[in-house]
Parts: sequence; structure tokens; C-alpha cells
Amino acid sequence: MSHQPLTLQYRPVDFKTVVGQDHITSVIREQIAHDAAKANYLFFGPRGTGKTSTARIVAKALNCLNPDHGNPCNQCANCLAIAENRTLDIVEIDAASHTGVDNVREEIIAKVPYQPSQLKKKVYIIDEVHMLSKGAFNALLKVMEEPPSYVTFILATTEIHKVPETIVSRCQSFQFSRVARDAIVERLQTIADAEGIKTESDALWTIAKVSEGIMRDAVKYLDQVSVLGDVTSDRVQSFLGMVDDEKIAALLGLLHNGDVTGAIEEVTSLQASGVDLAQFAKQVLAYVDEHFLDDVEQMTMMAGLFGKILGEMKYYPYPLLVYKRYFGERMREGEKGWERMRKDSVVKVEVAQKVEKVEEIKKEEEVEKVEKKPVEVVADVADYDAVKTALLDHLESPTLKGLVEKYVMIDSIDGGMIQLIAINKIAEINLNKEETKHDIEKIFSDIVGHGVTYAVETMTKEEYAARLLG
Ligand SMILES: [Zn+2]
Repeated sequence: MSHQPLTLQYRPVDFKTVVGQDHITSVIREQIAHDAAKANYLFFGPRGTGKTSTARIVAKALNCLNPDHGNPCNQCANCLAIAENRTLDIVEIDAASHTGVDNVREEIIAKVPYQPSQLKKKVYIIDEVHMLSKGAFNALLKVMEEPPSYVTFILATTEIHKVPETIVSRCQSFQFSRVARDAIVERLQTIADAEGIKTESDALWTIAKVSEGIMRDAVKYLDQVSVLGDVTSDRVQSFLGMVDDEKIAALLGLLHNGDVTGAIEEVTSLQASGVDLAQFAKQVLAYVDEHFLDDVEQMTMMAGLFGKILGEMKYYPYPLLVYKRYFGERMREGEKGWERMRKDSVVKVEVAQKVEKVEEIKKEEEVEKVEKKPVEVVADVADYDAVKTALLDHLESPTLKGLVEKYVMIDSIDGGMIQLIAINKIAEINLNKEETKHDIEKIFSDIVGHGVTYAVETMTKEEYAARLLG
């Protein structure tokens, strides 16, 4: 068995072995087969999706002496010269390197006028092209406007939005996409079979999942795990520091119940067992994504919490402390937030029962109907307190009244639009109920003297306080 990394050994060598980018390779292959290749191509998309490999294949295909319907043979003198890096006619420039900009001037501007020395076509591959300076782009643009027939430019970038429009418009652009999991698994299986590596199907699926559509990463993981022995699920999970879904669910349960100490103990033991805590935060987010609809409220909270943890992880030297800190903050909020949320639902039920009782009594005693207070227009609409007070005066449901009184503020009134801020999830949910919204908008309209609608934004108390302060 060769000791060359699998990523190199199995990097694509012709259009057929580029995985998951058929929408690109089929088009270019047809163009080349019909002698209709473009002068300038632009490849963009995430790293590791095959942009540079495909550029090299295009270079071979354009020069192959014995192509199969546009696909390079990988055996003729030209294909071999390119594969072995023995020709001056294929120039690869990494614009991200310090010499990249100089190379554009020296290699391209100065040498483009000369015919290829050995091959049919000169091909310039410029990687991370968005890194070029303005001057280099301008110089490049000049050549690209009227390229000699024997020159092809292939530009590649992970950040298309940083490439000047003038350059983009000169190229045929192709977007490289992340590869679907089943295609990755299939490719890994092919490589494993060819290398005599024993695998478990679950293990390959786990690798595909963690690789997030980046084929190069998937092959790299397969290589690294196979060095340790058979590629089993357990081995992959421990190598990648993966944690079982049940453990993640248990951790979220602890947090939901406000058991911050338990949650911190759990994460501490994960770290002790070698789990990478940044990777773990990503896993939790993937779990939250998959289970979002199971419990929208809880998952929304968890998405926010672990998003913050992951974000901070990049800048903070003590990963465990990041978890402790955010869990701790949750505990503080917990007393106010989660507890309050639970209390609210209890209060809601109690209030509803009371209202029922009152209504029964009313029926029995046939109490006179209390006449509804007429709604009066508030003189100064900019006086949000007055508007809110007027609203409270006319809300019939005591639950809603309580919620609005405590947890809802008027942020702005702008013509027909009232922006409300809710610092409590239940208040928000109630305000957005269709019936309630209709009733409240009716009252608001009477108060301000013309038709209005409203929108609700949810914030934590702290965010709201910060907003008030400036
Ligand atoms: Zn060939």
C-alpha cells in the first residue's frame, strides 16, 4: 500500500472522477469536445470542493492529444507533462501568497504575448483570485479583454463577492457546491474498497456528515481513521470527538431544567474524555437544527446559547470556561426567564379558571351587563405611556392585560405601524395570535384615531435596557 495521503492519491484526474459537480464538468467537457471552450473561466465556491483540481483537468483536456469526447486521456505526452508539472505552459499562481501579485505582472502580462512553448494552449490558473490588488486586477483585465487564441484563464475563488464585476463579466462562471452525503459515502466506499480498508456503513455516513459536503475533508478523515485500524463507527466517533445524540439530548434537558451545575459537569467530563468542545458546540447546533420542531421554544433558546458559545470559542483560550460562563448566565436568566415562563403558564390556567367561575356567578345572579368604556382618542400619540395605559383600560382578558402591562412596550408609532417589544415569549405568542391581534389593533386604531397594525419584536430584558440606554 502506498504511503501517499489518500487525498492526493484519489484527487480527481479527469472529468469523470470529479464528484458532485456534474453541472460544471458536463458543460465544460462538451465545450472542449466541440472546440468551443471559453477563453476565461471563473470557479467559485467553498474550499475543498474541487475548484483547483477541475482547473488542472481543464488544462489537460485543452491540451490532450487523444481526448475522449473532451475528457483528458492522462496518458499522452501532454497529459503527462501537465500531471508531472513539467511544462511552462501551465502556470499556477496563488494570489493569496506574497508573490502572487508580482507573478501576475511577470508571468501574465509579460509572457502572454508569446506562443506556448510545448503545448497547444497556455493555461493560467489563478487561485484565490480575490486577493489580487486593484492594480493587478486592472492589468489582468487588460489581457482578458483581448486574449490571444492560445491562452485560457481559469480563476478560482472562495469569495466571489470580492472579485470585481469587470472581471466576473469577462468570464463564464461556475459555482462549485458542497457534495451530497450519499455521493460522499459512495466515493469513500470506492476508495476504501480499492485500498482494502474495512468499513462500517454508519462510520462512512458519520464522516460524510462531519465533512459538511467537503469531499477533501471526508477523504482526509477516512485516511486518518484507517491508519488506526478498521473504519468502525466507534473509532470514527472517538477520532472526531463525536458525542451520541442521547448525550446531547440529556445536556439540553439539564439546561432546560435549569440544572446548570449538572450541565457544567457533563461538559467537563466530555472535555476530559478528549472531545473537542468547539466541535461539540457545532454538533449541538446540528442536533438543534434536526430537532427544531420537537420544541420550538427550547430549541430557539438552545440555538442562541450554543451559537454564542461557538462564536466566542474562536477568541477565548479556555473553551470550558466559555461554556461555564454562558451556562451560568442562563442560570441567572433562568430564574427570571425559564421560571417566569413556567409561572406564566400556571398563572394563565389559574386566571382562566377564575374567569370561568366569575362568569358562572354572573349567569346565576344575572348581573347587569357592564357597559363597555368608550375608547377615547389619545391627544398625544407620541406619549407612548398614555397610549399603553389607554390600551390596558380596554383589554378585556385579564391574562393578556397582565402580560401587556408587564412585558410589552411600545417602541415606536409611525403612521399606521406600531412597533412593539415583548420581553417575554408568552406575551409575544399571545400578541401574534390572529384573534388577539385583530382585537388589539382595533383598540389601537381607536386610540390613535386611524387604522394601525403592529409588529412584535422579542428581546431579553437586558437587550431592552441596553436599547433604552442608547
Ligand atoms: Zn492526453
